[in-house]
Amino acid sequence: MRYLITGGAGFIGSHLAEALLEAGHDVHVIDDLSTGSIQNILPLKSRGLRYTVDSVFNEGVTAELVDWCDAIFHLAAAVGVMLIVESPVKTIETNIHATEVVLKHAAKKKRPVLISSSSEVYGKTTRVPFSEDDDIVLGPSVKARWAYAASKLVDEFLALSYFKERGLPTVVARLFNTVGPRQTGRYGMVVPRFVQQALSGGPLTVFGDGRQSRCFCHVTDVVEALVKLIQTPQAFGHVFNVGSNREISIRALAELVRRRVNPRARIKRVSYENAYEEGFEDMRRRVPNVSKIRRLIGWRSHRTIEEIIDSVAEHERMNG
Ligand code: UDP
Repeated sequence: MRYLITGGAGFIGSHLAEALLEAGHDVHVIDDLSTGSIQNILPLKSRGLRYTVDSVFNEGVTAELVDWCDAIFHLAAAVGVMLIVESPVKTIETNIHATEVVLKHAAKKKRPVLISSSSEVYGKTTRVPFSEDDDIVLGPSVKARWAYAASKLVDEFLALSYFKERGLPTVVARLFNTVGPRQTGRYGMVVPRFVQQALSGGPLTVFGDGRQSRCFCHVTDVVEALVKLIQTPQAFGHVFNVGSNREISIRALAELVRRRVNPRARIKRVSYENAYEEGFEDMRRRVPNVSKIRRLIGWRSHRTIEEIIDSVAEHERMNG
């Protein structure tokens, strides 16, 4: 098969490209390198990866690549809470317009599309675990963080509408805190940040009271789910949670990283106001119900948080 990956030079996209090449597929990546990195994909060139450094907004280029491929993973997006708080206009425009362009051209050629969404769309919902058809509770529009969730929701609506109205095979994957080697801590992602902080002697910065929790899923597990989903026709027209359901508080995560990476590093608390902006709202708990994806494709995450921390630390030590 020929696969197109938008945002393929990013953290998840580059792991996906690698897995697809390994399985014998042809892969073409389009990425404008706004948050992705050419270093992520250069090693894959010798294994047959093709890539185009451009934005999917460039419709001529996107149309040609869509024509070439058999199916599309649409991963190009603005990600990371810090980026969203700092550049809300760019986030909204990137997330919505890129999806519009990709779906429009995919529909012309009837190419299946997997849209990567985010657990952010569950917003402030407090009823855990989160199921795909749960109601969604977002904060007010004056708080920049919610722009990300809203933009991803529009992407989901678009994908599902193309399926319903135009018969385009689309599937939505809601990713929950995907982590692993090559993820950058620059945009706020907590695991690479803690590991980098520990490696450079600390302190590890725990935002808020540290009792908020997340479920971290290794990127290799996530990639396996994405590939199976796009290859499963019964998945089209549906939304799937993709994540681990092992919950850990951020405070406990900091302690675990410290123990495994550098027991001498200190842990420091930082208020949300100082970390992000005045009035920042964080999610207290975020746990996926993964029974829908397990029922359809038999997928569940395997790698533990300890394995995740070790693989990130190993990568950071080698590339630090
Ligand atoms: N966080 C933290 N210290 C950091 C970066 C993040 O305590 O240096 C917290 C953050 O406030 C959130 C959790 O870790 O409660 C996960 O943050 P991340 O940005 O990785 O993902 P998301 O907020 O999207 O779940």
